[in-house]
Amino acid sequence: MIAENLHRIEQEIQESCALVSRNPEDVTMVAVTKSVDSKTANELVELGVTDLAENRVDKLLEKKQDLAQHQQIKWHLIGNLQRRKVKLIINEIDYFHALDSLRLAQEIQKRAKQQIACFIEVNISGEESKHGIAPAELDLFIKELASLDKIKVIGLMTMAPYESSQAEIRKIFSSLKQLQEGVKEQNLQYAPCTELSMGMSQDFKTAIEEGATFVRIGTALFRKGIGKVNGN
Ligand SMILES: *Cc1c(COP(=O)(O)O)cnc(C)c1O
Repeated sequence: MIAENLHRIEQEIQESCALVSRNPEDVTMVAVTKSVDSKTANELVELGVTDLAENRVDKLLEKKQDLAQHQQIKWHLIGNLQRRKVKLIINEIDYFHALDSLRLAQEIQKRAKQQIACFIEVNISGEESKHGIAPAELDLFIKELASLDKIKVIGLMTMAPYESSQAEIRKIFSSLKQLQEGVKEQNLQYAPCTELSMGMSQDFKTAIEEGATFVRIGTALFRKGIGKVNGN
């Protein structure tokens, strides 16, 4: 079942890339394993998946330990990170997708042994319940990071509200792309901002069409039964 799901998702990623003349090699599928155990995550790795994500610190550390024999795994922390947990996790991950405050960045600066590849989480939709900084605050936030040499802003991340329409989702993703281009054009050494982490099981095709370079996919990998992941 997982092999079939994976195969279908990989195919859909290729189709979406073809639709907008992008190279599929520029899209990394990050498997979100928060809803499954280490054994299931291990299956994915044995099928060739190299990028795994968790949204909780304890769960990531647990899986990393269980899968320690697979040294090739890149670990992504995709969830909101509490400052008091930074020291536990920051030197265990390859990517952090949810940088959303200066205080958090300062704590990372204090605890990181080397530069950390970070995505700034942007709350495009303005939904109150969502984490992330407001689009209007992005430029100032980026400037504030200039003196923190442990932070490398490799890109931007967002989540579309669950109940959004296709059109709204597309608008959110294209807005994030525009913001990303704006940062990239500044040619800041600490903020190359070439990447876009957007798209989940429901909306990864739209995200790829709008420029996603990292898609974060959970449920579509693990659900039973066949059929298309989504209809867009
Ligand atoms: C859970 C989660 C995902 C994956 O969502 P699915 O709908 O299961 O694909 C992606 N990103 C974040 C931040 C998540 O918490």
